[in-house]
Amino acid sequence: MQIDLTGKKALVTGSTEGIGYAIAGQLAGAGADVIVNGRSEDKTAKAAARLKSEGARGNVEAVAADLATSEGCAALVTKVPHVDILINNAGIFQPGDFFDTPDDVWDRHWQVNVMSAVRLSRAYLPGMEKRKWGRVIFIASESGFNIPVEMIHYGVSKTADIAVARGLAKRMAGTGVTVNSVLPGPTLSEGVAAMLTEAREKSGKSIEEVAADFVKQHRGGSLIQRAASVDEIANIVTYLASPLASATTGAAMRVDGGLIDTL
Ligand code: NAD
Repeated sequence: MQIDLTGKKALVTGSTEGIGYAIAGQLAGAGADVIVNGRSEDKTAKAAARLKSEGARGNVEAVAADLATSEGCAALVTKVPHVDILINNAGIFQPGDFFDTPDDVWDRHWQVNVMSAVRLSRAYLPGMEKRKWGRVIFIASESGFNIPVEMIHYGVSKTADIAVARGLAKRMAGTGVTVNSVLPGPTLSEGVAAMLTEAREKSGKSIEEVAADFVKQHRGGSLIQRAASVDEIANIVTYLASPLASATTGAAMRVDGGLIDTL
């Protein structure tokens, strides 16, 4: 199977590291012109330079913008007025018991995880419709199905992502534009590695071993019994972003290591 994205322009939000960086790398490797996004100018420029040095075939551009606000989203759209592929990846996850989680934590998860994707989809989908081709992919989570008790606010935001993607797929019916969500399970990104730093230091184990311990202890239903790699998530995203995936829309695609226990 050959995936060729030459001539397509792709925006990957929150792509200075983690799953987003891996997606940006694969899309650029398949020939797409890729916009890398993060909050800080410096980190975003460095990520773009690293991508170029790692075999990008398409152009790589860095556009810093904080997508937690409508102003930040609007600034990004002003700098990048159209894209063919939108990957709504930027996301935050902050564990906390329900009774210790104040409104501002709920609000921030809602703004970054849901509203950034809503605002960017609203800005870019009409252009895709006019050009009769487009791909929008929401990086949701298996936590949108299996609401994690230690971060209900996060689970709710990811359920919303899945719902918005499904609704938008219906809204774009028959236009040549597909909208899907991807549901990773625990994935060894920089964000997750940071969350596990203390456990790694205490145990003296490798980060992969500590991540596997976390999965077995807290996500016991995982059939792979380990964290996924960021590339394992990017593989399915790259396929969905390609012309080959033209009959898949409105889907919630699992890359959850078998964690969601439904047929
Ligand atoms: P990460 O923390 O490693 O990277 C997150 C990226 O988002 C960074 O580039 C960061 O700069 C960017 N970002 C955060 N807030 C932003 C903002 N306000 N504006 C612009 N950029 C911002 O995260 P990750 O683990 O790679 O997660 C990426 C996505 O995948 C998230 O939506 C997350 O919910 C989802 N996900 C992750 C896992 C996992 O286990 N890692 C599992 C399921 C779903």
